[in-house]
Formats: sequence, structure tokens, C-alpha cells
Amino acid sequence: MSEELQYLKGVGPQRAKALEKLGIKKVNDLLFYYPRAWVDRSNIKPISKIIVGERETVKGTVVTAETKKMRNRLTITNVVIQDKTGYITGVWYNQPYMEKTFKHGEEVIFHGKVENYKSMLQMPVPEFEVVDETAGENIHVNRIVPVYPLTENITQKTFRAIIKKVVDDRSSQINEYMPEVIMKKYNLLDFKKAVYNVHFPDDFKTLEEAKRRLKFDEFFFLQMALAIRKKKIKAQNGEIFNITGEFYAKMQALIPFKLTGAQERSLKEIKADFISGKPMNRLVQGDVGSGKTVIAFIAGVIAKDSGAQTAFLAPTEILAGQHFKTAEKFFDKTGVRVCMLTGGAKKKERDELLKDLKEGRIDILIGTHAILEEDVIFKKLGLVIIDEQHRFGVMQRAGLLEKGTRPHTLIMTATPIPRTLSMAVYGDLDTSIIDELPPGRKPIKTMLFGDDKKTFVYNFIEEKLKEDAQIYAVYPLVEESEKIDLKSAIEMEKEWAQRFKNYKTALIHGQMPKEEKEAVMKAYINKEIHILVATTVIEVGIDVPNASVMVIEHAERFGLSQLHQLRGRVGRGDRQSYCVLVGDPKTEDGFKRLNIMTSTNDGFKISEEDLAIRGPGEFMGTRQHGLPEFKIANIIADREILEQSRDAAFAVVGGEIQISVEDKQKMVKTISDIYHNKFDLINVG
Ligand code: ADP
Ligand code: MG
Repeated sequence: MSEELQYLKGVGPQRAKALEKLGIKKVNDLLFYYPRAWVDRSNIKPISKIIVGERETVKGTVVTAETKKMRNRLTITNVVIQDKTGYITGVWYNQPYMEKTFKHGEEVIFHGKVENYKSMLQMPVPEFEVVDETAGENIHVNRIVPVYPLTENITQKTFRAIIKKVVDDRSSQINEYMPEVIMKKYNLLDFKKAVYNVHFPDDFKTLEEAKRRLKFDEFFFLQMALAIRKKKIKAQNGEIFNITGEFYAKMQALIPFKLTGAQERSLKEIKADFISGKPMNRLVQGDVGSGKTVIAFIAGVIAKDSGAQTAFLAPTEILAGQHFKTAEKFFDKTGVRVCMLTGGAKKKERDELLKDLKEGRIDILIGTHAILEEDVIFKKLGLVIIDEQHRFGVMQRAGLLEKGTRPHTLIMTATPIPRTLSMAVYGDLDTSIIDELPPGRKPIKTMLFGDDKKTFVYNFIEEKLKEDAQIYAVYPLVEESEKIDLKSAIEMEKEWAQRFKNYKTALIHGQMPKEEKEAVMKAYINKEIHILVATTVIEVGIDVPNASVMVIEHAERFGLSQLHQLRGRVGRGDRQSYCVLVGDPKTEDGFKRLNIMTSTNDGFKISEEDLAIRGPGEFMGTRQHGLPEFKIANIIADREILEQSRDAAFAVVGGEIQISVEDKQKMVKTISDIYHNKFDLINVG
């Protein structure tokens, strides 16, 4: 059978091009191009017979299509259709272009939940389709009909006909590749049946089973890849570290506080990795301020005791600088040598540092991306620490690992990732969670004000300044452009200075020279500056315990997780801290969203909400994190299936579920057929 699309009946060169734009490159791809929705046409009812509260399907002609502007900049598009028995209105919110989709007199089908609005029938955001009477074939009527994600150049009807032919011709050749044990254990629908039914379902029950099977598979492939990666790492030998050495003992005596229970637990897990004989590959998740840094330093000192060097990668220069200062505090008296390398280093200093590093005279190297450069060579890199992992890409992580031979890896993140997402993205890592803040911290009080309440905000700040508090005023990344971002911060700094003449105000942003940034931070730490106006450069990691008030303007423009990160810059000392969000959300939902910030300090809760609102792609930055775009599965909505497929995949890789060589080959072939290697399994399998 030819795989070339253009020779397929009903396609031709023109349409083949349109299909290619959808990622469909050969005939077989059509089988696995799944619908985005299904419309029930098996049961079209007269409008007079439909029931409020039920999902129903109706067919009628378009009477009117109008868009109204509402007070709060919302738009509502109403499309009224009519059959012989009555009227119903399809309603779309903030999609004014929908108006143009419907032409007066055209026959359409609506499918959705029926509501009663001011004694009129309406269907909010129905699935819909314009009926083409010439279609005639029974694939478009009297059944559950698939609706595909398409571009303009191809209609549902045409596409559906093409798919029907391919599915009829080819689905009989689809082979089951999932081993019998897994099929039984997880009660999966046969693959062939699943593919057929996802396109042309016999009934809704079978459709659900088909969807579940295909979602299971997508998660399963990803989890297999992660499980294999994990197994590969664990199959290597890792250096056994000395966890009871003299430098560690010395450092312990210098730590000015008692570790929290959660810190102790994480440390214990790290130490267990160090003596396991396998390379550590561990993620430490801990809310902002939970004290991850000290744990990382202890790990570094254990490496030193074991004759190995540590690379400590931080996402920004400010943060690297701060870690370096903290490290000096801990290590100065221990005889552990810590150095810092950032992009701004002078040539002579850099050369010297590189020489020391190569000859083993540096124990811990803290730095930014600059550490990743090729000429940065360690004598014996035994431990890689990555702070604020979400700021780095997968490739960078890999690059750093190559500077050593199977070094232990410790990854730290303060973006508490919801468990499901964590499983999907970091499924190859072992995880430690620091879910406890150091004692004595007072929970931050968060308040939300509209733009019109600025006077109140300034009065509040005045009061706090009188109590000797220090203030952060943060201006967000207004757009993707650093320049605009900068402008608003620069202008606002003037305004703050104007308003609070008795206090010292300063500006800090990412484009300032390193020395200047450092000078400002130092002055702020020494309380020579009272109000620090900043862009989001202070988002990660900065630690100034006396700073107790943070004002965040345009709060509605941030993701919740980012707001939480920012807020974590206060509440680090003994004072009661405040986070003042100033914003003007455009919608009811926007207000609700920001109100989550005022109602909880729990980073995990916030990130769950954030993920639910923004979706996994935007939340993580899909590409950067190697999270594949699923065809049909959804990490949030389908978390139960994800958990099951994870169990299955890890059981297969772990050997608890045995599969035959033949089954394995079938599986690999299918993955390559459907996903064109996206899951990176072929190479590792
Ligand atoms: P994060 O987890 O956000 O990176 P840090 O490591 O910066 O947090 O720690 C935040 C602050 O808490 C630092 O000032 C640190 O010295 C302090 N700290 C860490 N652990 C403890 C502890 N067990 N008791 C008291 N203070 C601690
Ligand atoms: Mg930190």
C-alpha cells in the first residue's frame, strides 16, 4: 500500500499539502490523527423535545449570529437556530470570530448541554458542525461523528471521508502489541478496536474505552522511556562517598541552626544514595525558604571528604553570588575551597581559576551557565548540583554531567511541581521533599488591591517603613520584552523616590553590570537602601531576612507559581511579612485566581491551581523540559490513567511483568509508526 498521501482517494497534491501542515505526512499517520470531539448524531431531537440539563443534539437553520460587548470587555456571541418545533441559542464567550462561522439560513448541528436562560433555551459552547446536504454518506449522520482539529483548507466532511476510508482499509492490519498481562491487569480495549472506535465509535461507552486505551498508551510510552533511563543510570557504578569525613564534621559545627525534620530526611536520602554504589539522580523539591541550600552544601562537603569536586549551577548571577557568599560563611573555617565562575569573569582571573580547577585545587565551583563552557575542566567532578532546575533545559543538565564520569546529581527546585506533572517530567529521578519551613517563621500575609487603591498601599508602606522594615517593589515582565519591563521599573523607581523622600530607594534589574547589581544588593542587605525597585531578577533565591514587605504591581500578569516565588523573598526573618498584590484583573476568573494567593501560602496548592489554569505546556515550558505533546492524553485530566500506566511501565522495565522479545519488538515498531520516535524509546530499548 502506498504511503504517499496525494495518491489516496479524495486527497490529491493540494490537500496533501494541507494535511502536511497538520503533521500528517503519510497515509498511516491518518490512523493516529485523533478527533478533538465527538458529536452525537445518532439521536437528533426536535428542539421542542430536548431536556434542560441534558446533553442533546439538535439540527436547525441559522436565524441570527450576533456578538455583544459586555461591560468587562467580555464578548458574547449568540447564534440562534430554528427547526420546525422551536429555537435554541448557541453561546460563545470571547470568541467574536464565531459570528462569521455561521451564515444565515445555513443548516447546522449543535451538540451540548441544554440550559434555560431567561426562559429561552441555550447551549453554552456547543460542539457544532455546518451540515452539507450533498454529503449523503452515512458516515456523517445517524451516528456518533468525529470532529477533527483542522485548518481552514480542509472541511470536516472531506477529512472525515478520507479518514473513514483509511480506517476501513487499514485498521484490520493494526496489531496488538501490548502484552496480554498488561491488557488484562489494566482492563484495556484491544488496540485495533480502540483506533477504529476513536474515529467512528459504536457508542459512547466504547468511545470512552477507546480513549482510555489510547491515553494509557501515550503515557505508557513516556513512562517506559523514563523507566529505562532510570534503569540505565542505576545500572552504572557510582562512586561510594565517605559520609563520615572530617570536613563534614567541621562544617556541622559551623551550621548556626538545627536542621528541620524534613531537611534531615532529605539528607539521609542523599547519603543513602552516596553509599549505594550507584550514581545519585535526585530531585529535591522544597517550597521557597525551606532551606535547600544548606543541604546542597553538606552534599558538597561530603564530596570533598571523598576526594571529589562539586559543580553548583545557579540560574542567575545574583543568585550564584549569594550562594557563594553563604558558602564562604560555611566553608571559610573548614578548609574547603569554594570559588565562583560567572560570565562576567575577567580573562586573567578566569584562566587562573580554570587552572586551579583542572589541577584539583578548587573543591566547590559555584556559577552560572559559564560553568558549562567547554574549557571548564574539572580534575575529578564527583557531584553536580543544579539549583532552581526549572530555569535550565534538559540539554544543559546533560552537558554538565559529561564533565565528570557518572557524577552524583542533585537537582533542586522551589517550584513545587504537582505530583502528576512531576511523574511525567522527572519520572526518572528519585525525589526528596522538604515540606517543612524552619521554625519561627511567621506566615506571610497577602493582600490584594485594585489599581484605584494605590494611596492605601502607599500609606501602608509608609507605616511599615516607620517600623524599620525594608520593601521590595516588583514590576513584572510586562511583555516578553525586557525593554518594556525595564522601562516600567525605571519609571516607577522615580515615583517611589519622589513619594518617599525620607527613605533611600534603588533600582535593580537584569541588564545592570554585575558590579552595580552586587553593590545594590549589598547596600540593601546592609539596610542602606529601604525600597528596592526590581524587575523579576529577584524572583529566584535571593535571601534578605530583614526585607518584610513586597509590593507586586500588575499582579494579574503573572503566573501563580511565579507570584509565589516572588513572595518567597519575604517572610525569611522574624518580622511579620506582607505581600501586597496590586492588580486589575479583567475578569471574574482573574480575581479568583489572585485570590488563591491571598488564601494560601502552600506552594503545592498554588502550583496545582496554576497548572490547572495554564495547562502543562505553558506551566513548564514544554519543549525545554522534554515533555512530549500528547495526541490525546492530558496530564491533568487523565492523572489516574497516568498513574496506572506508570505502574505498568515500571513493572515491565523492572522485570515484575515479563514480556516476550516478540512483544517488545512489536511495541517498538508501533511506537515508531505512531510517534515517529518522539518518545526516544527505540534507541534505549
Ligand atoms: P530555599 O529552599 O528557598 O533555597 P534557603 O536555602 O535560601 O531556602 O534558606 C532560607 C533561609 O533559611 C536561609 O537564610 C537559611 O540560612 C535559613 N535556614 C535554612 N535551614 C534552616 C533551619 N533548619 N533553621 C533555621 N534557618 C534555616
Ligand atoms: Mg534556593
